[in-house]
Amino acid sequence: MDFLTLFALYVGLVLTCIVLVCRYSGRQQTPFNVLFNSVLKVVAPITPKWLQRFSQWALHRLFHQRNNMFIYLHILLEFAVYAEFTGEVFGFCREMDTTLTSLSVPYILLAIKTFFFYLCIKRDPGTVTKKKVAGQLHIYQYDRRLFHPGVSCPTCQFVKPARSKHCRVCNRCVQRFDHHCVWVNNCIGAQNTRYFLLYLFTVCAMAGDIALLTADMLLHAVLRSGLLRASYIDENGEQQPAGPLFVAQHLFLAFPRIVFMLGFLVFVFFLLAGYALFHSYLALVNQTSNEWYKSRGLVCQHCHPNTADHLCSPAPNHSNRHYYSRGLLRNLGEIFFPPQPAQKKDN
Ligand SMILES: [Zn+2]
Ligand SMILES: [Zn+2]
Repeated sequence: MDFLTLFALYVGLVLTCIVLVCRYSGRQQTPFNVLFNSVLKVVAPITPKWLQRFSQWALHRLFHQRNNMFIYLHILLEFAVYAEFTGEVFGFCREMDTTLTSLSVPYILLAIKTFFFYLCIKRDPGTVTKKKVAGQLHIYQYDRRLFHPGVSCPTCQFVKPARSKHCRVCNRCVQRFDHHCVWVNNCIGAQNTRYFLLYLFTVCAMAGDIALLTADMLLHAVLRSGLLRASYIDENGEQQPAGPLFVAQHLFLAFPRIVFMLGFLVFVFFLLAGYALFHSYLALVNQTSNEWYKSRGLVCQHCHPNTADHLCSPAPNHSNRHYYSRGLLRNLGEIFFPPQPAQKKDN
């Protein structure tokens, strides 16, 4: 396989991943699920029973039980990027007179990100407990659309406060439940959504900043080599000017690890920027991912023309999708200064 085919495949793969993730993020049934299930059906009859049991156990352990695997993977990927940046890009940038201030920004962002990452992992997301549940029940009103009064969690055996949900991975009910994040091995709820948002923004800034510095370095490498003015003799013996593909080939061959890292960073940046924007929107309208997901395609008994039963009483305001929104500033205030449950004083 010649270089250009390989390079086109690489660029195609990165772009396809970006498009697919943007297109299908947040959906339960994705082409990956369909493909994965189809492959499983085909290989199941020829796979030994012990291997099937092991893969089921491994998938269950990885995605349905709390474990630190994704935290280690996160640290490993980060280490690989920073090792490459420090080992190759940093020295080259110093040679081309990039200031130390610019070059220290990724390390400052890394320190800030690590701080928020730690808080996401360690802080309680707002677990509903026997001691706190009485206070937690009064924080939000039931919208009688997604959350109804008097519903108990069969596992925790508490009446569920409005906006709470039982996390099957952590086996607990969480106040203002957003989602369970495998990357921080914790639920994202009322008390740590602020750290999660700040973590997302700093990871985006980190990926974007290192990508910009790396792209700048590669641009300087091209300008310095004089490749843009160069020419080559093609197979017919004719002189051709070096075009963009020729330059890309040169960069791929001269700096393979750096070009690969740049592709990875661009992918991570677009993926996380989309995710961070989605969570910013949710924060501004005071909605959780769980509520956003449940609201999609929700058919209420009131609205359904063929149903006579009215389960919700009094009738909820169906036009108000953002039931808990109290204005942009108050919504943000609720994220960054989450309401605390009033605790009963023991006499
Ligand atoms: Zn529960
Ligand atoms: Zn959880």
